[in-house]
This record gives sequence, structure tokens and C-alpha cells, in this order.
Amino acid sequence: MIDFEHFQKMKTYRKSQKYFNQAKAVIPGGVNSPVRAFKAVGGNPIFIAKAKGSRIYDVDGNSYIDYVLSWGPLILGHAHPKVVRALKSAAEKGTSYGAPTTLEIELANLVIKAYPSMDKVRMVNSGTEATMSAIRVARGFTKRDKIIKFEGCYHGHADGLLVKAGSGATTFGIPDSPGVPKSYAQNTITLPFNDPNALRKVIDRERKSIACVILEPVVGNIGCVLPRPGFLEALREITEKYGIVLIFDEVMTGFRVAYGGAQEYFKIKPDMTCLGKVIGGGLPVGAYGGKKEIMSMVSPEGPVYQAGTLSGNPLAMTAGIETLKILSGKGTYKKLEKLCAMLEEGLIDAARKAGVKTRFYRAGTMFCTYFTDKEVFDYNTAKTSDTARFARFFTGMLNRGVNIAPSQFEAGFMSLAHSEKDIEQTVKAAYESLRES
Ligand SMILES: *Cc1c(COP(=O)(O)O)cnc(C)c1O
Repeated sequence: MIDFEHFQKMKTYRKSQKYFNQAKAVIPGGVNSPVRAFKAVGGNPIFIAKAKGSRIYDVDGNSYIDYVLSWGPLILGHAHPKVVRALKSAAEKGTSYGAPTTLEIELANLVIKAYPSMDKVRMVNSGTEATMSAIRVARGFTKRDKIIKFEGCYHGHADGLLVKAGSGATTFGIPDSPGVPKSYAQNTITLPFNDPNALRKVIDRERKSIACVILEPVVGNIGCVLPRPGFLEALREITEKYGIVLIFDEVMTGFRVAYGGAQEYFKIKPDMTCLGKVIGGGLPVGAYGGKKEIMSMVSPEGPVYQAGTLSGNPLAMTAGIETLKILSGKGTYKKLEKLCAMLEEGLIDAARKAGVKTRFYRAGTMFCTYFTDKEVFDYNTAKTSDTARFARFFTGMLNRGVNIAPSQFEAGFMSLAHSEKDIEQTVKAAYESLRES
């Protein structure tokens, strides 16, 4: 039995603190992506030295069971030996050519086989690029400008997508960030998630100007919000009726909720799909694809321009191929589900024993514990969470050697490298952290 009290007293973050100060001098906020900075939970980020399997190790020599997994991609766990071996061998052959390779065909085929809604797929370098490009293609295809997104759904940081709703279901977008022209945001309509009537109302009025509806079929960027029965079906029906392109942003849910993503899990066929995270196996990859007639719009087959110097990069393709090959093996998702169910049960039990009101949600191998007693089904209900309490819980977990995302509004992830022992330790740490939070 590991003595967590002992662990906690031993833990120091001195070196991380020192490096964070150095980083802040040369990198905005000291990080290359904002949420890494621990702003939502207080304290300073830990600097990582290495990772293996279910564990990451920081520069001070502390080790953590990791449920962040690079924000989702590392479903096999860190530094899977097969992926590492394949990457080494690929690097020996050169890291980029700017010309086609057979690796690109191989990954495209793996993706299309798993996602029957996609006839063709284009590789890019990030989820942001995937959604940005998919929307451009949907606009080119429909010759319409407006897009509909949902409150709390994150689709990367492209200008027209950094928009939330104001009050009222049909409010036209106001940019979330300085630097986004109002005129871009005006083409983005934001609606509440899980409310098909709000969508019907807008579409009745605007149907001739709406190019696409884009959503996270499970909203992982406000934790883990599940679609209510009938919501995705209603979206499919309305968009089909008016020739509006339905885009599933499965950057997080793809190969995560199930091998075939949320579209397999909920049995809904979108017109276009965006992927990222898991398909890169920890290297920078994004992808978008869809029906033949839509994807034939993409340059050089069609007139909609989209390009990338490093797109389809051989190292990135190799990591993706190896990851998907292992994932598509027998029983992998069954194992992941079993581990997730064990964690779910343990965390719910720990909260009850500690007398803390929480709500736990899970879709396949992604999950979230909200510090609220209300049902969470959209942005506003997610916001009922006690974020101060979450922050204390986060710190308690970190001190006990468990790394969860430093924000209440992020999903947790399971990997094939996690063991039942990891989960037992996590649940014990959670109980102790909840009691003191
Ligand atoms: C992470 C994420 C993105 C953005 O992907 P990046 O690779 O960070 O650009 C887009 N959509 C969803 C649903 C995501 O989870």
C-alpha cells in the first residue's frame, strides 16, 4: 500500500516553479496553449520530464497517474513501445518530403473504414485546421455563409469559431476574443446544446443562408455533456431537409467514445467529420472528410483552397497508423470501458462517502466529475459547478500523484496502459482529496 500522506509531504515543485518563471520571460504566460497554465485552479504548471504508460514524471522527480493524456490523443498510454519503434524507423528515412507517400493512403483507409460516413479524407496538422477547413468546404459546397454552432462547443481557435452566444437563443455572435472582427462573428449563430427547438426556430428563419451546423456530439470542452436522446436525430433530420451540411467535430470523440466515434456510438451519419487528437497518436495530426460530392470541392479536385506544407507528414502518419492498428485489435474498447466503469463506480462512491455532491458523466472512454447536484446537459448547467471546490480537489489529486486536467470544464481520459491498481490508487486519492476539499 502506498502511503499517500507521506507522498504529499514529500512533494515539491521547486524546479517546475523555476522553469515556469524562465518560460514566462519568453513565452506568453509561460505556455504554448493557455489551459496548461493552471489559471483556473491556481498554482503553477508542472513541467514534464518524461512519460511512460499511464504515468508522467515532472522535472522535480514526482510521478503521476495521468488522465490528461496530452488532452486525449494518448489512448494507448505514453510512449507505447510499438509506436516509438515505428517512429524511430520512420525518422531514419527522413522526416518530411513535401510529396505523397503510401503512409497517407494507409491512414486514410484506416479512417474511412472506421467512419463509413466519410468517402474521402484530407489530412491536416491540428483539430483547428480540420474544423476551419471543413467549414470552408461546407460554405463552398452550399454557397452560403452562415454557420450554426452550440454554446460550450469548442472547435479550435479559428476566428469565426471563437464565438459564444449572448443571451437568448438566436443571438448573433459576439467575438469571445479581441482580434476577431465583428464581421466574422456575425456569420456564426450560437445555440444552446440539447435544444432542438431553438435550432428549428433559427432554421425556419434563416435556412437559405445557413451553410452548416457544427457540433461536438459529446461536448468534451465543457467537461462531458451527453446529447439527450433525440437531439442528434433532430439535427440530422432538420439539416437534411434544408440541404445544410451537418459537421460532427469528432476531434475529441473520434476513436475515443468508440473506435468509430460518436457517430458509431449514437448511430448518426453526419455529412462531414473532423478528427484530430487520437488519429495522430501523440503527433500533430488533424483530418476532415465526408461525402464524395462534398469532398470533391477540395483543391486540387475542386475550387475550395486548403493546403499544408507538413500535412500528411510521414512521422505523424506513422504514429497514427500504429495507434489505430493497435486500437482496432480485439477487445481494446472492452478493456477501456471496463477500466472506465471501474473508475466511474469508484469516484461516485468516494464522493458519496466524503459527503460531496457531484455528478459524473461518461461517454465511452471520456468522462467528467462536476461539482454540482444539478443535471448537466448544456453550457449553463455545466456552469452550476463549484469551480473553487474543483480547484481544491485538483490540487489534492496532484499532491497525491494523480494528474487530471486543471479545469472543471475538461474531460478526463482513460488509456490502455492504465491498470486496475492505478484506478484503485486514483479512487483512494479522490476520497482523501474530496474529504479535505
Ligand atoms: C481539441 C479540439 C479541437 C482543436 O484541436 P487542436 O489540435 O487543439 O487545434 C477542435 N475540436 C475539438 C472538439 C477539440 O476537442
